[in-house]
Amino acid sequence: MSGFTKSPWIIHYDASSCNGCDIEVLACLTPLFDVERLGVINTGNPKHADIFLVTGAVNEQSKDVIRNIYNQMPEPKVVVAIGVCAGSGGVFRECYNISGGVDSVIPVDVYVPGCAARPEASVDGVVKSLGGLEQKRKEMAAAPKNVDQTLYLRAEKTDAPEILGLQKTAGQCEAEIYNNDNLPALQQTLEELQSDFDRLTFIKAVINGKIIGSVRGHATGDTAYVSGVIVHPYYQHHEIGRRLVEEIEKAFPSAKRFESFTGRPNERGLRLLGKLGYKEFKTDPFTPAITWVHLQKERK
Ligand code: SF4
Repeated sequence: MSGFTKSPWIIHYDASSCNGCDIEVLACLTPLFDVERLGVINTGNPKHADIFLVTGAVNEQSKDVIRNIYNQMPEPKVVVAIGVCAGSGGVFRECYNISGGVDSVIPVDVYVPGCAARPEASVDGVVKSLGGLEQKRKEMAAAPKNVDQTLYLRAEKTDAPEILGLQKTAGQCEAEIYNNDNLPALQQTLEELQSDFDRLTFIKAVINGKIIGSVRGHATGDTAYVSGVIVHPYYQHHEIGRRLVEEIEKAFPSAKRFESFTGRPNERGLRLLGKLGYKEFKTDPFTPAITWVHLQKERK
């Protein structure tokens, strides 16, 4: 294992815990459990952290802080949800001010059960997350070598959970570009995505059985509408987004015209569609800082 998996640095955030789980997490650092003897350091700086430990359910106030911490952590990184509240909202799930577990905001790698989660279980969760950290490190290193093996296939409804996870991971980059954590892609639920499969066609990019990219589209009359181009951050800048758009265009052989949209200031999205021959034809304000840009092209 690489050095950082032998000496992982963690950052802990209390999303809205009753403090039960927090006390147990702190117990991990006391002499009885003493995770520091295993090289684990508790840091207050997200830029130094490899593992993000979150306790408590997510509410409107903690949502932004969670995303902010997560976005500042360098890749590769893993998220451990400690306790049932962080896993699903727990006993507070139906409360008016709770939006759910941590995975309603960012992708979670390990769920530690319990109310409160016992220190042994939290240590176990951290150890388990080291495997995920190492796996991600290998994937990052192998990404440039693997892109030639990418398969572009029609996605099925059963792929929805994996695509949603990817959408939330890739969406963190978009959130940074737009400086907005409330983008529609980040808010979509599994039920909404599953129902999209009833009316939209999905293409997935797959490497070694894992979905690393996706796009969706539908046709009305002569026009095919292309949207939701997502590529895992490790695989960006390898032309996978371009191939996905080309593949979804092929899925609508009778379309004479294609339409898509992206937002300003997402210059990368505009460049991608521009390279594929799309031209801007109208804009829509979304927020004072974000403008949706609609682009179109005729089939050649
Ligand atoms: S899981 Fe239990 S102990 Fe932990 S924050 Fe929720 S209610 Fe408190």
